[in-house]
Amino acid sequence: MITAKSFVERAETLDQNDPLASYRERFYIPQHQGSDSIYFTGNSLGLQPKTTQNKIQEELDDWAEFGVEGHFESRRPWFSYHEQLTEMIAKIVGAKPIETVVTHSLTTNLHLLMVSFYRPEGKRNKVLCEKKAFPSDQYALESQAKFHGFKPEDVIVEIGPRDGDHLITEQDIIDKINELGDELAMVMIGGVNYYSGQLFDMESITKAAHNVGSIAGFDLAHAAGNVKLKLNEWGVDFAAWCGYKYLNSSPGGVSGLFVHERHANNKNLPRFAGWWGHDKETRFLMEPGFNPMPGAEGWQLSNAPVLGMAAHLASLEIFDEVGMDKLIEKRNKLTGFLEEVINEISEDYKDKCTFEIITPKSTENRGAQLSILAHGQGKQMFDKLTEQGVIADWREPNVIRIAPVPLYNSFNDVARFGQCLINAIQ
Ligand SMILES: *Cc1c(COP(=O)(O)O)cnc(C)c1O
Repeated sequence: MITAKSFVERAETLDQNDPLASYRERFYIPQHQGSDSIYFTGNSLGLQPKTTQNKIQEELDDWAEFGVEGHFESRRPWFSYHEQLTEMIAKIVGAKPIETVVTHSLTTNLHLLMVSFYRPEGKRNKVLCEKKAFPSDQYALESQAKFHGFKPEDVIVEIGPRDGDHLITEQDIIDKINELGDELAMVMIGGVNYYSGQLFDMESITKAAHNVGSIAGFDLAHAAGNVKLKLNEWGVDFAAWCGYKYLNSSPGGVSGLFVHERHANNKNLPRFAGWWGHDKETRFLMEPGFNPMPGAEGWQLSNAPVLGMAAHLASLEIFDEVGMDKLIEKRNKLTGFLEEVINEISEDYKDKCTFEIITPKSTENRGAQLSILAHGQGKQMFDKLTEQGVIADWREPNVIRIAPVPLYNSFNDVARFGQCLINAIQ
């Protein structure tokens, strides 16, 4: 019989050999009965870096000291605040600085980008998205279809797993793109599926979309800060993500968008405009006639919410120090260890229940998250996990989503999770 002790011993060696182990100290770990909880929901809300408070306090101090003059006089002038975040976020998503900007929230950005890039014309009016997309994305797509006078069911085409399967076959996506051909106006898919944790081959999808004359856009809510992204190299037209999941930028925090450089100077793209997207040299002349900033900055509407931006800055500084490659290296080991622990428990306790990991096995096709079908178990088992200090996500009827995050989760967290799981099924 597998014992929790063997997990703890294996974790000890893994933690000792982890070059990123010390980063856990840089975050506040939520407490449970006086000790660290097992926080596996960084895919939903990332933890708070200990530097965040000071970054926000500095802006409060500058606001107190300078008032409106802080736009130009403060230590990080608010007028150009977003510019300090650009290079750091560009590295995370594999973009050139002109292609990204930190601004607004995710769903807002998706709408702004679709206003520009979903441009149905004649029979080319279809949108391809994944079945059971995150609800906000579904509503955004439906309302964009209606905005152009369509019935959503006439233009939105969904691609899902084959019967009895949990993952979408990549070839099925490509085949569907080819089948839609000159009727396809836009592909808009989550880069990492929020439910299954499946990471899609965005390069192939983009290529296939472009081959039939379609735009390719991605929602990277579960991808940014989690998987290797090369948006520029892949030729993706547009993308948006949120800053508060893997990027730890505070609840509902500011997010980011990407527009490929090939669109950077296209002033003819329709867009919903605001003054912060207007050429910064003439912005304060307050003259009529919108003249967009080149690149992603041209999609900004409003002056930046500096307190939220400060929180994002604190987190991006940590990402910049570590780099995505090292994070991904640890991510593969950490999620791999979690996979081992779950599979060993599942094998040992198969008389009582089995755990089926529906997330792809290959590290090329997933990020940090594992989604687990708990056969023979209900919400009761999940509640027993919660009682023991495991913070995870439960979806009816029986799916547990857990994401150990390489920046602040340890191998010991995984070992303790194994122990909690054994306790919960006994
Ligand atoms: C988290 C998430 C959202 C949330 O959107 P907000 O505008 O940030 O509230 C939207 N789409 C996906 C795929 C998500 O995972």
